[in-house]
Amino acid sequence: MSLKTSSDNSSFLKGLFREYYFKDSNSLGTPSMIEKREFGYMSFDSIMVRHLSFRNKKELIARLVQESPSDVYCSNGYYKFPTNSVQSKEWEGADLIFDIDLKDLNMPCSSEHSFYVCDQCGACNVSFLNACTVCLGRKISRSTIPCRKCLISLKKETQRLIEFLHGDLGIADGSIEIFFSGNAGYHIHVSDSEFKTLDSRARSDLVDYICGNGIMNESIGVRKSKNGFYIKFPKSGMVFGWRRRVASEFGINQSSISKLKRIVESNGGYSQFKDDLSAKAKSIGVRIDPHVTTDIHRIFRMPGTINGKSSLLKVKSTNLETFNPLDSACVLDDRQVYIRSKVNLKLYLHENYFRIKNSIERLPAYAAAYMICKGLADFIK
Ligand SMILES: [Zn+2]
Ligand SMILES: [Zn+2]
Repeated sequence: MSLKTSSDNSSFLKGLFREYYFKDSNSLGTPSMIEKREFGYMSFDSIMVRHLSFRNKKELIARLVQESPSDVYCSNGYYKFPTNSVQSKEWEGADLIFDIDLKDLNMPCSSEHSFYVCDQCGACNVSFLNACTVCLGRKISRSTIPCRKCLISLKKETQRLIEFLHGDLGIADGSIEIFFSGNAGYHIHVSDSEFKTLDSRARSDLVDYICGNGIMNESIGVRKSKNGFYIKFPKSGMVFGWRRRVASEFGINQSSISKLKRIVESNGGYSQFKDDLSAKAKSIGVRIDPHVTTDIHRIFRMPGTINGKSSLLKVKSTNLETFNPLDSACVLDDRQVYIRSKVNLKLYLHENYFRIKNSIERLPAYAAAYMICKGLADFIK
């Protein structure tokens, strides 16, 4: 992104981020068993530093103030030797984490608020191009400003995940923490000890369950026979979990043998119905990033740290319904600064609307930082 093309941008952001870590370090989430976690960060020069360990929050904050990184990460796993290489850390367990990201929701409005920024020279376009029109560079990054509809859909998807965690997996409210990722998503952290020692494979089974992968005709009573299929509903009924969801989608219950038979027949029989059922299950399932949940050695964005892709905070939501990420996560300073915007844009942040023109603009530092992190503006000294 253009961040790399301008040292003025980096030093402006670095100064703001440092100020935040220096003044507001209380809002930094302290992970449980901090001494067993691996920490890492990305510098503003795009250098990734990993395998760090801190004995307490004070040590961690001192490092953040000193380095003022672009992004800060902490392992979901805990280790006997967190600073060792991955092979010799001695894994002891990991929190269960889920990532809901806007890019996985395939929002139809996406093209209305996406920009394409040249990694090499920072030039910005409203439509996708194979090469930059200014420098002919071929590395182009997509930058998106989530709209109201996007933010609502992210919340709904998160709520649906919580229903699965609660209703199907029996995880108590107190063990589930919901965070706005700081950019365009939500991170859900589960600290229930029942799940801590699950290996990657078991987590992958959980992902399949939540996404609705691999659901069988038999689970709702459609069984294969020599001449086609027959219906025999499961003894345990269809009032729980996936059976309830699918039954309600098809409008059937335990007494709908002939109705379900007609549905399967109208689909073209057992095999074709299987495809229809898979598609329905996918649409009912939650769109989570499977890699995040199954990776038990991941270092993941740390709660209470600033997301370098947006300058917003990864912040906890205690009431998802009333939570507005664009207010709660906007924590940087509000002194006035100048930027040169590359685009025309309407922006809402921190209870303020900005109508930004493709020119020099005077903005509060938090709005300027957002535009710069998105690759849509350059800082003017
Ligand atoms: Zn370029
Ligand atoms: Zn949108």
